[in-house]
Amino acid sequence: MKKKTGLFLIIIILGSCAYFKKPSFPVEQLHYPDSLHVVLRSDWGWKPLTGTIPEHRIKRITIHHGGVDFNRDEDPVQYIRHLQDWSRAKKNWIDIPYHFMIDLDGRIYEARPINYPGDTNTTYNPRGHALICVMGNYEHQIINRKQLTAVVDLCAYLAEHFHVPPSQIKGHKDYAETLCPGKNLYLYIRNGYIQNKVKEILNRENKNHQKRQ
Ligand SMILES: [Zn+2]
Repeated sequence: MKKKTGLFLIIIILGSCAYFKKPSFPVEQLHYPDSLHVVLRSDWGWKPLTGTIPEHRIKRITIHHGGVDFNRDEDPVQYIRHLQDWSRAKKNWIDIPYHFMIDLDGRIYEARPINYPGDTNTTYNPRGHALICVMGNYEHQIINRKQLTAVVDLCAYLAEHFHVPPSQIKGHKDYAETLCPGKNLYLYIRNGYIQNKVKEILNRENKNHQKRQ
């Protein structure tokens, strides 16, 4: 009789552990070419999702800026960790609102998993958008060469992977009433520089691919 009660208790305990086990939500992990230096979520201390929203499919790429000055003496990893905590605690979002962050040296950091739509304080619907955010305020900071190259290379990778036409690479202000991504960065979207560079990369890769076949 005692043995049976013990067994019964063990089953109850194991059952309740399974019940209280934290749920895990699917995260689509992209595989980047060696030429694209991406700091993975696992390398900067990303905290796993604690909630979820319906997933989406990427159809366009939208460029943002952080909207606050970002200076040389600031640590980009601290900034991203803080942004994640703030997004969850203050905004009740599942994660950082953007899928990628780019720092002053053009380093790219993975942020919100790409299979979930981003979030916004403005009025557009970010479903279907891959969101790239350049840290800093480009209404008055100047975008540097390394950052611009990182934006182009990341856009080219995403455009190829998700079959996004370069014409669907735009800035936040193309969809909503905002200064984002700041005039000094938006300049390169408005004059077609980023879209044209992406086209060049995709054409070059297509030609290389045809040669190999
Ligand atoms: Zn924005």
